[in-house]
Amino acid sequence: MNKIIIITAPSGAGKTTIVKKLLAEMPQLAFSISATTRIARDTEVDGQDYYFLTQEDFHQKIDNNAFAEYEMVYAHKYYGTLKTELQRIWDNNQVPMVDIDVKGALSIKEKYHDAALAIFIAPPTLDTLRVRLSERGTETQASLEERLGKARYELSFSHEFDEIVVNDELERAYVEVKALVQAFLK
Ligand code: 5GP
Repeated sequence: MNKIIIITAPSGAGKTTIVKKLLAEMPQLAFSISATTRIARDTEVDGQDYYFLTQEDFHQKIDNNAFAEYEMVYAHKYYGTLKTELQRIWDNNQVPMVDIDVKGALSIKEKYHDAALAIFIAPPTLDTLRVRLSERGTETQASLEERLGKARYELSFSHEFDEIVVNDELERAYVEVKALVQAFLK
């Protein structure tokens, strides 16, 4: 059975660190590179962090049914998981690690059922999230508020996931996530 690991968290909940560490320690996992229409950040590389697409290209792929799921995550910014990306990873005898938003996660879960493990990483509180996001320094005031609003909304769906892991302390949360993934892949 071709399996999928889905990891979701509100922006700033510490998901990226956990995902990177899992990928480093579990060679059977491969990061599923999403497509997006948002602009690349300075440190991001096309085809490595994301496939950066124009609105036109993205819509063309929607029309061609090329996505396993896609969402407009932020105003006019699309993100999606390409079917070819999942297949590329399975063909390589690895398991895709899909790092996507709540709605995308739940649609993948709905599509792949027991082949997918959906983990929600929750911040201990929304205040913690605000502090983490401002410290990261990647957001303007407006985009920070947008991300917090989205986080509040996303938290309301956490109970629909297979597992919820509270990121109160990064190392502890990491160990918990890794154990869940290992058990699922056995
Ligand atoms: P960022 O702009 O910070 O890289 O990502 C913003 C949000 O988009 C994150 O919550 C991330 O999980 C989500 N995201 C990234 N890739 C995908 C995808 O392929 N599909 C969906 N639905 N969300 C995604």
